Amino acid sequence: MKEKVKTTKEMSQRERKLQEIRKKLNRQREELISDAGIALTALPDETTFPELGDQASAEIDRNFMLKLKGRERKLLKKIDEAIEKIDNGTYGICEACGEEINIRRLEARPVTTMCIECKTEQEEEEKLRER
Ligand SMILES: [Zn+2]
Repeated sequence: MKEKVKTTKEMSQRERKLQEIRKKLNRQREELISDAGIALTALPDETTFPELGDQASAEIDRNFMLKLKGRERKLLKKIDEAIEKIDNGTYGICEACGEEINIRRLEARPVTTMCIECKTEQEEEEKLRER
């Protein structure tokens, strides 16, 4: 079976925008990581230490994550999730109502997971709870 590959022409405006957002997220991710003072190239890879295996790389991941501040760590996680969603085609869908999130909102706030209506509603509810 031949797989159909979409050409740029066949891609919708929205899909093209999503790819731009993906690039932006990737850059943001790299900035976050370099801000934490760690160059990815400094991490030993499996070819250098084959005997260490998965456990060691998990260890490195954990140490690395600890060096990031809580807020940055949260953001990095959101960025990772957003990139993953773009890749599997579930990005830009509101978690609460299942509708497509406005592309302009996504461009302004790429890690958002809710449409403006649901987000506003959630914020109102949070305000009520704080009282
Ligand atoms: Zn919604």
